[in-house]
Amino acid sequence: MPAQLSDFVPPGNGNGDDIGDGDLSDASSSGLSSLGSLFPDKEGDGGAQCPWCGATVDMKLLKDFSNGKRLNVRLQTKFCEEHRKKSAMATWESKAYPEVEWSTLESRFKKHQTHLLDIINGEESFYRTRLAAKIEQGQGRSMKKEENLNPGYYGPRGFNMMCDYLVKEYSDMLKKKAVHDKVIAGRGSAAFIQAVLVAELGVQLIMEDMLVSPEEARHILEESKPIGDLVHADNWL
Ligand SMILES: [Zn+2]
Repeated sequence: MPAQLSDFVPPGNGNGDDIGDGDLSDASSSGLSSLGSLFPDKEGDGGAQCPWCGATVDMKLLKDFSNGKRLNVRLQTKFCEEHRKKSAMATWESKAYPEVEWSTLESRFKKHQTHLLDIINGEESFYRTRLAAKIEQGQGRSMKKEENLNPGYYGPRGFNMMCDYLVKEYSDMLKKKAVHDKVIAGRGSAAFIQAVLVAELGVQLIMEDMLVSPEEARHILEESKPIGDLVHADNWL
């Protein structure tokens, strides 16, 4: 069998050193690696490379998944999703994030009505102030798609649930308030819901879940956004 282009692994790729992220050329070329080049000759040093993202993965995980066969692109992305989800679950446990009770979540939202109403009525809050600053600087004139507004580990599923609830509960009120409130009017009431109310509600829930201060809850909210994307993606319907 002739040597295949895909047998070449770019030099420096996969040496385990995390040099930095965002090098897309490496990620795409490693996506072409054949399965054969992924397994080192000697067994037992534990690591293999994800054929899609190039991350070091448990060799057994890859072997079990591939069943010794070469993975096409569809299966490579599926494997990648699987190993990332698996490591996300491990992080989830080590960080002691809670299991979300989705069926009772809306009733938890309702307990924070007073707090949310205060913010709508102009009381200072961390995320209202942040949005106000952005409006003042003329930043984010249109809501940037790439900005991750998920309420931390609640993920896109939590984001959508909160938006639905907040729109139902407050959108009429927000439209009226916008007449005299520059922060609500600045990017519109939908943006106010997404950038301020979802985040404030998320912080309240995280404070309850994790028994932490508001500052710590905001830190957790930021830190757990990527894991929320993986574990509570929006394809659960
Ligand atoms: Zn991967």
